[in-house]
Amino acid sequence: MTARIPKFPGTELGSKEFYEGKVTQVRSRPDAQYDFSAGEAISRFLEELQKGKLIARTCTGCARILFPPRMFCEECYRPTDEWRYIRDTGTIETYSISYIDQDAKRITEPILVGVVSLDGASPKMGMMHYFREMTKDEIRIGLRVKAVWKPPEERKGSVLDIRYFRPLKEGEA
Ligand SMILES: [Zn+2]
Repeated sequence: MTARIPKFPGTELGSKEFYEGKVTQVRSRPDAQYDFSAGEAISRFLEELQKGKLIARTCTGCARILFPPRMFCEECYRPTDEWRYIRDTGTIETYSISYIDQDAKRITEPILVGVVSLDGASPKMGMMHYFREMTKDEIRIGLRVKAVWKPPEERKGSVLDIRYFRPLKEGEA
């Protein structure tokens, strides 16, 4: 209330009304301020992205190379063993042709997104990302791709330090 407005419009509610079930919907705008730790493995993963590198963790128990890296192997129930750089080339594992953008707005030119399994990591180990320099008619599961990185000064330690994955060119390793 203010000096000029002694009472706001609407119905005043107290705990009594809540307990009596008279309130079925509440709208609020929380001012949540928080911070969180990415953890040891993902912190290193993000730092390496900023350097233009992809890093994984090895597990000698199951002989897998885990990417994105994690400090604990969920198959062996033991800590993972070593850091290992992997390549920025890979294979499209699955994809979507999306006619809806990040804000759920309809678009006429689709965006191509999906999962790329990366070379040097164990099978099915990869990351979700954008695919460009290919059309919706050219994209397919099994297509070989390579990361297109942002220039070093624009990288922030984010998966978006990779702009997108493009088709691997003829003769490119
Ligand atoms: Zn393991």
